[in-house]
Amino acid sequence: IPLVYFDNAATSQKPQVVIDAISKYYTTINANIHRGVHTLSQLATDAYEVPRQSIQRHINAKHTHEVLFTSGTTHGINLVASGFTQFLKPGDYVMVSAMEHHSNIVPWQMLCERTGANLHVIPMNEKGELIMEEFDKLISEKTKIVSVNHISNALGTINPIKYIIDKAHAVGAAVFIDGAQAAPHIRPDVQALDCDFYAFSGHKTCGPTGSGVLYGKEEWLEKLPPYQGGGEMIKEVTFEKTTYAGLPHKFEAGTPHIAGGIVLGTAIDYLNGVGFDNIAAYEHTLLEYGTQKLLEIDGMELVGTAAEKTSVISFNLKGIHPYDVGTLVDKMGIAVRTGHHCAQPVMNAFCIPGTIRASFAFYNTVEEIDALVTAVKKAQMMLS
Ligand code: PLP
Repeated sequence: IPLVYFDNAATSQKPQVVIDAISKYYTTINANIHRGVHTLSQLATDAYEVPRQSIQRHINAKHTHEVLFTSGTTHGINLVASGFTQFLKPGDYVMVSAMEHHSNIVPWQMLCERTGANLHVIPMNEKGELIMEEFDKLISEKTKIVSVNHISNALGTINPIKYIIDKAHAVGAAVFIDGAQAAPHIRPDVQALDCDFYAFSGHKTCGPTGSGVLYGKEEWLEKLPPYQGGGEMIKEVTFEKTTYAGLPHKFEAGTPHIAGGIVLGTAIDYLNGVGFDNIAAYEHTLLEYGTQKLLEIDGMELVGTAAEKTSVISFNLKGIHPYDVGTLVDKMGIAVRTGHHCAQPVMNAFCIPGTIRASFAFYNTVEEIDALVTAVKKAQMMLS
């Protein structure tokens, strides 16, 4: 059976240019970077620094050294949450939202445990939209950092991050934006947003697994301590004292995922070639078509009906466990995600064990959505 891939929010498929670029790196310029004077090392180093510049342009960062290569969004969040330890004291607040992925909850909880700070949670309504009036009530001078996702992986909601950033800054809080679900669909402008940090994963944006980006404003990256110690993040090491390298190297200890960084650049260039406006417009038609077709099924319960949504449709069929639907649909050649999507608090808020999630990318088609609808109807018949 031909595969219909609707698990793009988990990871995207890779275009041929990306696959070829990985092979090209290993066959032509594989060497360790920043350390050798030999030609091959120079070639690899130059190739690794090029994507830093293209990503800087892509997200409109002010400086190239504000772009840190990471292994993914999780790494970026942990790096900042760990670095904030020295800025928090008992009684301070860290704020997240009710619709965060576990990776944007747990590192902040760990930070609160280390420092005695408390966690505030911006609640959401029954459509899966953050309640801004509640956010306005929660935020105060005690709030030191707010970390919210740009787009929810479980619900597809696009959050009002500019509002959150401006309000947080008004009380002196820093803002971290988890852009894992936004980066495949939207070109973030970090200067226009004025966020302090913005993270995303390469593997969700047509790039390799183990690659990612953490943008941080220069003044914050200067203030934060290094996350890991090791080779390449130092200026000078003696047994008495070590001084650290400048940005971005202070945060890039050890041999990085060299091919990952280089090829992430290829992936971002590829997406820019397709055009983010084209991607957003096309995916919106898929979202509207898919929503309308799925709603024609009896017993269809959509989970997440925010006014501002990206191409994610989370749903359940009345009286049927999402795993059963997911398993049967998979047997019919359609890959959807089932479960809590690493967002258990979201499922708890809706009092459900999980959802079936179809997440569309720009390479999906309406014919594939028709196949999903047919498969869901068949599964429903078999299970009721
Ligand atoms: N944040 C959100 C909103 C996500 O959807 C994900 C992954 O699904 C992550 C964070 C974690 O990303 P990664 O596992 O690539 O670090």
